[in-house]
Amino acid sequence: MLYLLITAEFSENIEKLYVADTETDPAEYSFKLKCTKCGELAEKVIHFNLFEKHENSGSKGENSFTMKCKFCESDNSILANSFEHSLFAQQAEHSNNDRRKKFGLNGNKTDINSYAAIMQLDSRGWDIENFFFNELPFKVELRTGTVMDCQFDEDGTWYDYDDESGEEVNIVDFKYKIEKGK
Ligand SMILES: [Zn+2]
Repeated sequence: MLYLLITAEFSENIEKLYVADTETDPAEYSFKLKCTKCGELAEKVIHFNLFEKHENSGSKGENSFTMKCKFCESDNSILANSFEHSLFAQQAEHSNNDRRKKFGLNGNKTDINSYAAIMQLDSRGWDIENFFFNELPFKVELRTGTVMDCQFDEDGTWYDYDDESGEEVNIVDFKYKIEKGK
């Protein structure tokens, strides 16, 4: 299994960050993929959401998306599911370490405690080359309970203003990484 992990630096008034992703209004996640069998990058950026699943042809199980590699013609697919919902300001205090351990997301992966693993990817034949987080709608929840819409710039920053408290709200240094787990 692969896991998509995110982290960021919050201004002090922020409690948590999560993808604006519900069954009635699913978020579309965009990725650039690389074939693990021949090492070639897929030309197209692919998009999928976590709610629509398709039956695998000829075999058991399902996938979120399937695409034939143009170079080696392998039928590669990914089954993606939500894993952890939010990235918290105090992420280490909110991580379910027993659950993480079960999925191989702990131990000697040094800085993993500052990341939230937002997606589990059962990938058959694709590696993630690029995750286009700046195309994804996020929600930011403030310590006061106010929820704001958030969309990142390509450099991983977001600035806004909370009218209620009269304070600036910002996130900088948004980063993602892919980790192997169970
Ligand atoms: Zn290939």
